[in-house]
Amino acid sequence: MDINQIWRAALGELELEIDRANFNTWIFPCHLTGIDGTTAVISVSTIFHHDQLIKKYYQLIIDKLNAHGANIEALEIEVKPSDKPKQTQTKNEQKEVVSSEDVEIAVKPKPNIAQQLPTNNQQSPFIRSHTFDTFVVGNNNRLAFTVCQAVAKNPGTMYNPLFLYGGVGLGKTHLMHAIANEILANDPNKHVLYVSCEKFTNEFIAAIQTNKMRDFKEKYRTVDLLLVDDIQFIANKEGSQEEFFHTFNALHQSNRQIVITSDRVPKQIPALEERLSSRFGWGMLADVQAPNLETRIAILKTKCLERQIVLPDEVLTYIGTQIQSNIRELEGTLTRVLTYCDLYHVPPSLTATKEALSGLITPVNKRTFTPDALFRVVAEHFGITVENILSQKRTKLLVYPRQLVMYLMYKDFDYSYPQIGRELGGKDHTTIMYGCGKIEKEMEENTQIVRDLSRIKERLAEL
Ligand code: ADP
Ligand code: MG
Repeated sequence: MDINQIWRAALGELELEIDRANFNTWIFPCHLTGIDGTTAVISVSTIFHHDQLIKKYYQLIIDKLNAHGANIEALEIEVKPSDKPKQTQTKNEQKEVVSSEDVEIAVKPKPNIAQQLPTNNQQSPFIRSHTFDTFVVGNNNRLAFTVCQAVAKNPGTMYNPLFLYGGVGLGKTHLMHAIANEILANDPNKHVLYVSCEKFTNEFIAAIQTNKMRDFKEKYRTVDLLLVDDIQFIANKEGSQEEFFHTFNALHQSNRQIVITSDRVPKQIPALEERLSSRFGWGMLADVQAPNLETRIAILKTKCLERQIVLPDEVLTYIGTQIQSNIRELEGTLTRVLTYCDLYHVPPSLTATKEALSGLITPVNKRTFTPDALFRVVAEHFGITVENILSQKRTKLLVYPRQLVMYLMYKDFDYSYPQIGRELGGKDHTTIMYGCGKIEKEMEENTQIVRDLSRIKERLAEL
């Protein structure tokens, strides 16, 4: 009797009999781990899940197992917090359950995990829920995912350094934490250090000021795995670049793994020393791109599963259609909908979702937008000056940022072509029309444009 076979057959039938949302939430994640006499042992990862199975599906599962060759009288449902560490809930975060159309929906959103303190005693703040298991793989990130797994398995060998790049909120930091979590799960004694580029820079400056360079070097050059997030912020910081160069060499020479992320390829980081830029390309460059609609919906489903909630498909599709280029925003939107429904005690229907999100879809506030702010953000993004943007110079380095400015003013801030021409130092409206058209057309092929746009919008929204 092959229990895997029995389980698969039972799953097939359960899938036909239970509606999809419930099946995906309660049945599919179960594992049949063994059959002990007339008791089937099923493992789930939370007590909540355990209770739901007992309450709703206990007999049905037994029947289906028996229909496929088992001889079961009882189920033993064991709760095994899965290998991916789960959040523990404190008392006042306990989920409230609202019932709608026979689907039980817990509408209390999970607290922002990123803000929680690490629960292990590592000095690095690894986010425990950021594992490979919780990362949804699509064509947009398959290469990055595969390479990260390889690095976690054999650090310091094949892909060293690993340089991950891509737009904001597309999973780079998640993948870094996944590597760290996996390496530590395999060997808790490994010395793993995660820092944001900013932290590296600040510590470096503090070390100089307090005469503690020796400690600084000791800290960074003795790790087994160094993860540096958002390295683009090292632009224009010569001292930090110099120090990072030596750190890099020390680690690389002794085959210790380095993982770096950035919002763009090394060559596009303004004022990055050539010797660093070329070293970043020594190992592997892998990009993460914006997910397509199907992947966005799959991500939303995963986030729902993590929170043990079920949302109607039309709600997921609506959210996935509205939020296109940033997964952090996708998650934030999901949280907003759940909070809204919780607050007003309504089930998360499409109507409630639209209400919750009304007026929220454009993250940048149109009323407070000024062209000057946009010029500054774009100039900073490309390492050029506002004067460069407003100038008449037509070098490629300046034309592209200028066209992005035109496109954003036209599309996102409702400026007319002649208005944009005036703001940009007196340019003809046909030039503006051409520029907007060019960006719009090339965006379909060139994902870098989408990344630049979303980064710029993100920065604008932060102002
Ligand atoms: P980045 O570092 O690229 O700006 P993050 O890694 O911080 O982005 O991701 C933003 C949020 O989106 C995180 O909460 C992360 O868990 C989530 N996320 C990103 N990509 C995925 C994915 N493919 N599957 C599941 N969650 C994802
Ligand atoms: Mg990040």
